[in-house]
Amino acid sequence: MEKRPRHRIARRYPEAKRRIFVSELNTCAHCGAELKLRPNWHMRKTIQTMQGALFLAGRAKTCTNEECSHCGTRYYASQVWLLSLPESSYGLDVLAYIGWRHEHDQRQLVEIQRELNQKGIEINERNVGKLYRQYLALLGATSEGIRKKLEAIVEKHGGLIFGIDALQPEGHGSLLYVLYEILSGRVVSAIQLERPNEKDLTDWLKTYQSYPVLASVSDGEERIIAALRAVWPNAPRQRCQEHFLGNLADEVLENDTELRKQMRVDLGGLPKTADFPENSSFF
Ligand SMILES: [Zn+2]
Repeated sequence: MEKRPRHRIARRYPEAKRRIFVSELNTCAHCGAELKLRPNWHMRKTIQTMQGALFLAGRAKTCTNEECSHCGTRYYASQVWLLSLPESSYGLDVLAYIGWRHEHDQRQLVEIQRELNQKGIEINERNVGKLYRQYLALLGATSEGIRKKLEAIVEKHGGLIFGIDALQPEGHGSLLYVLYEILSGRVVSAIQLERPNEKDLTDWLKTYQSYPVLASVSDGEERIIAALRAVWPNAPRQRCQEHFLGNLADEVLENDTELRKQMRVDLGGLPKTADFPENSSFF
């Protein structure tokens, strides 16, 4: 393996693939009007995933219907938080890998760090420990912080919009299911299962059953749809426009000429990737 410099001033990934997401919602949850795409990014960052570096950006949509009780509400591209938790510079697949190797395969964190380095991921032992704790927090159901956030959204919007997607981390057969809330753009919880069935998913979602739900968003996976139907029978379901987590970095958005143009305007050139704050906590 090529020896890497011990201290880098900045980590840059010019080879990073690019994924640009727009909010998965088409219509306003309150008035039903078609949402308009906002001109600027609401987030952008470069992360390390098990499949290489990835530049991620998200664009929100907004309700512009002046008659609407929630005119001006922004609907974020929550998919970006599924690939990587807010303020983290690693993909969720890296968390899932660390968690599974440690919990399921009983590997020590230092061994896992070595494995990740061998796979080309730059990470030190301290950050492996940190990601492992994030993984545990994510699997540990509702934290107080998340509960408050969800209650605030219910207060403001009268309900939540839940989205679910599944990610298959490299190297083993388990699936990581992630529940997120679209209006707040928060990852709420995750569950990692080797042979998921509808009951597992339903039991997991039941923790959140008491919240009023305006709508749910998922891809076409039957187990997920059945679980959503069981837990929130009356909530309208919307299918994701694109399924992305399974093939994290495989595809680069083809028709993003317009977005590239926009990006040059927004960022004055290449995406900024120099700083990776690792001192943030998200729960
Ligand atoms: Zn509206």
